[in-house]
Amino acid sequence: MTARLIDGKAVAKKLRAEYSVRIADLKARHGIVPGIAVILVGDNPASEVYVRNKITACRDTGIHSELYRLPSDTPEADLMKRIDALNADPAVHGILVQLPIPAHISLPAVLERIDPSKDVDGFHLYNVGALVAGNTVFPPCTPFGVQKLLEHENVPIEGRNVVVVGASNIVGKPMALMLMKQEATVAICHKKTRDLAQFTRLADILVVAAGVPGLITADMVQDGVVVIDVGINRLPDGRLVGDVDFEGVRQKASLITPVPGGVGPMTITMLLHNTIVSAERSLKLGS
Ligand code: NAP
Repeated sequence: MTARLIDGKAVAKKLRAEYSVRIADLKARHGIVPGIAVILVGDNPASEVYVRNKITACRDTGIHSELYRLPSDTPEADLMKRIDALNADPAVHGILVQLPIPAHISLPAVLERIDPSKDVDGFHLYNVGALVAGNTVFPPCTPFGVQKLLEHENVPIEGRNVVVVGASNIVGKPMALMLMKQEATVAICHKKTRDLAQFTRLADILVVAAGVPGLITADMVQDGVVVIDVGINRLPDGRLVGDVDFEGVRQKASLITPVPGGVGPMTITMLLHNTIVSAERSLKLGS
């Protein structure tokens, strides 16, 4: 068997076209334009690229965006003041603090300062708790993008064995919760997992988000598995690869995401989605 590729770029393009229509409708019928504020503290080069891509995606879809650049030595209190002002601004429906932030600023304190109703990244404790309770407010963008890809490919989830490799707060854990909510049987693996292959071989759907190139090889998966590779790793020769040995594993899988062009384009797309939903909710609250 050779796997069919899941084309995240194409799915993202299709969704973004739908979102543009939704935004135009919001503007025409209700006079509101979804707005997002992005705060970038410091000058991390990778963050610069991510933020630029987010702003461009907003512009192309019709979302209003504001970028606040703060120097790396910004006192925590100044960042908090900026967040407070954005929390109070009715034109801003989503607030995003680009991670990582400098070490002198408390990440939990920053995430909790953002109004949960504008927390389009879904990182506020309230939103994390809501996800655990199965009552999602804003699903975190990367796992939400994976969920949309699986939905687009009509992959059955209910009753399936899902193995998530990686247990971070932004990808692995919320991914596991979201698929559990869809009634999959879910195992989460991490660095201390003994005999990773013992788990991955059970997977009908394998989601890998470890940040380790070549972690999953063909002998670790069963025939027909659906493989979602969230990993993004830059090799010394400059190539961008995921966490899965793509050429080997695709010989056994039924569906597989490439890197790049799989999960990556979906993450920003889900940020657009959450911002539109936030604007739509603000309308309901205002009426
Ligand atoms: P992270 O915070 O570093 O978490 C990595 C997770 O993988 C941890 O739970 C870690 O276990 C686990 N892990 C590491 N090595 C492992 C191994 N050898 N076997 C089993 N588990 C292992 O990373 P992250 O932010 O979740 O990101 C993961 C990857 O996804 C990265 O490559 C990142 O660039 C990529 N990513 C992509 C997107 C996208 O849009 N496509 C978005 C976010 C992240 P412990 O918990 O035991 O440390």
